[in-house]
Amino acid sequence: MARYTDASCRLCRRENQKLFLKGERCYSTKCAIEKRNYAPGQHGQSRKKVSEYGLQLREKQKAKRFYGVLEAQFRNYFEKAAKKKGITGENLLIMLETRLDNAVFRMGFASSRKEARQLVRHGHFTVNGQKQNIPSFAVKAGDSIKVKEKSTSSPKFKEIKDMSISVPSWIEVDVEKLEGKVVAMPGREDIDTPIAEHLIVELYSK
Ligand code: SF4
Repeated sequence: MARYTDASCRLCRRENQKLFLKGERCYSTKCAIEKRNYAPGQHGQSRKKVSEYGLQLREKQKAKRFYGVLEAQFRNYFEKAAKKKGITGENLLIMLETRLDNAVFRMGFASSRKEARQLVRHGHFTVNGQKQNIPSFAVKAGDSIKVKEKSTSSPKFKEIKDMSISVPSWIEVDVEKLEGKVVAMPGREDIDTPIAEHLIVELYSK
C-alpha cells in the first residue's frame, strides 16, 4: 500500500480529532479541525450511528495515522505486542512511541512526526554514536540520540537551540548540544496519545 499523500487535515477530520500532522499549523487557528470539525466529503456532516466494529476500525486507523505507520507495519507491531509479556494494547503503544522518528518528535527536534521521519531518513541523527536513518528503529532505555555533527550547522537545528522545549518524562534533552537520552522506557501513563488501544486489540482479536 502506498503512503497516504492527500491533505493531512482530511485525516484529522475523518477521525474527528487533531492528529498533529502539520507542525505549527496544528496549534493555530488555521487548523482545519478548528474551522470544520466534521468528516470530509459530501456526507461529512450527516450523523451516522457507528457500529462496534466501526469504532474499533476507526481507533486503529487513528493510531496508524497518528504515528504515520502503514497497515502491514501496524499489523506487524500488533503481532509482536501480542507475543510480549504484559498488556497487548499497552505493548503496542509503547512500541509505536519508541520508534526513533517519534522519539525525535518528542524531543522537540521536529515540528511533526512526518518531519521527524524525513529528518531521520535524511541521516541527520545518530543513536549511541552510530548513524541511524531508519524511522522505525526502536530506541531503548539508555540510548543517546544526537543530531549528527555535520547537521548541527543547518538552519533547522540552529533555530531549535533558541526554543524552549517540553519533553515527556522518559526523555531528557540538552538543546544546546542537540542531543537527548531515553532515560527509561515509557509506561502507558507517559503516553498522551489519545487512543483507546483496547479497541484495536478487540479488532485484531476477532
Ligand atoms: Fe490536523 Fe494539524 Fe491539519 Fe489541524 S492543522 S487538521 S491538527 S493536520
